[in-house]
Amino acid sequence: MSLINRQIHLVSRPQGEASPSNFQLVEAPVPASEALAEGQVVVRHHYLSLDPYMRGRMNDSRSYAEPQPLNTVMLGGTVGEVLHSRHPKFQPGDQVLGMGGWQEYSVVDASVRGALHKVDTQHIPLSAYLGAVGMPGVTAWYGLMKIITPKSGETVVVSAASGAVGSVVGQLAKVRGCRVVGVAGGQDKCRYVVEELGFDACIDYKQHAEPKAFYQALKAATPQGVDGYFENVGGMILDAVMLRMNAFSRLAMCGMIAGYDGQPTPMQNPALILVNRMKVEGFIVSEHPDVWPEAVQELGTLVGTGRLKFKETVAQGIAAAPEAFLGLLKGKNFGKQLVKLI
Ligand code: NDP
Repeated sequence: MSLINRQIHLVSRPQGEASPSNFQLVEAPVPASEALAEGQVVVRHHYLSLDPYMRGRMNDSRSYAEPQPLNTVMLGGTVGEVLHSRHPKFQPGDQVLGMGGWQEYSVVDASVRGALHKVDTQHIPLSAYLGAVGMPGVTAWYGLMKIITPKSGETVVVSAASGAVGSVVGQLAKVRGCRVVGVAGGQDKCRYVVEELGFDACIDYKQHAEPKAFYQALKAATPQGVDGYFENVGGMILDAVMLRMNAFSRLAMCGMIAGYDGQPTPMQNPALILVNRMKVEGFIVSEHPDVWPEAVQELGTLVGTGRLKFKETVAQGIAAAPEAFLGLLKGKNFGKQLVKLI
């Protein structure tokens, strides 16, 4: 009897906020090993990664990411184990990282360069390859090291500070001797960022919901101004941080999640870029494959030795993926959002 592969398809595009009706659970057979072509591998997924960029792909509009075609499996990063293989480099039982999508199994052409990577789980947990030692970790590393280029004693601010990317940004900046200030939604997240991750301060933007109150809290936490800002959110948080930026400061534009459902996120005072001779640079991590080995080496070493901490929110079962994803867009996740599939 063939195995059943449960998948989540995108079946409609959101108008404004995304909703559960944009997704559909579909069942398909898993191909038997005899049916595989030369080079193909069947992977059984253990974890699926849910990431904010997926929201952009649900729209049919111009963006840096191609729109997700309707009635196809949602794209996404996965880790799991090889079930069947017709590729000489992969054996059943190998632990692998790939882009298997929102489904329980995937068939991968392992002869395509970069389609499937073997991972070492002796010192690093499998799920971390979707978080601190995976795409979000490398995103943090790239924006901090290549755009902000932090120096010891400088002040670095990061928004969505308890999340997959932000938590790594702050810890890497602490390793480099910076004063690190996070911005996060809620007291639990802020407490975690300071007490567990070692940030110097964290501002709860929900507690300081008025722009003036938020700015005052930020000012108190950044007495020397801000030299590097790692932006994940946009809107009011960006405007307030802009007012604290120093001359020759650097802003890594990584994400603007406050606008992913289509809300306008105007910048109140772009003249500050000129006044402060700022460097503002956007980036997409997948366009910088050259840095991955160096970044993963440092991130893997820090995680393996317990010096880089991370938290995960884990939904159970593929059917839970849409709700968990919609929660991520509202800050219901605490740390890296995953779906456990076995
Ligand atoms: P997170 O794990 O940080 O989860 C998203 C977090 O964003 C939520 O937990 C929430 O935290 C915060 N958030 C959501 N909505 C809002 C809002 N309206 N206002 C303020 N905060 C909000 O996600 P990631 O770490 O995976 O991603 C962080 C950012 O990095 C995203 O913007 C993402 O698009 C971007 N990114 C960019 C990449 C690139 O190549 N440029 C690659 C990977 C990620 P809280 O409760 O604290 O508000």
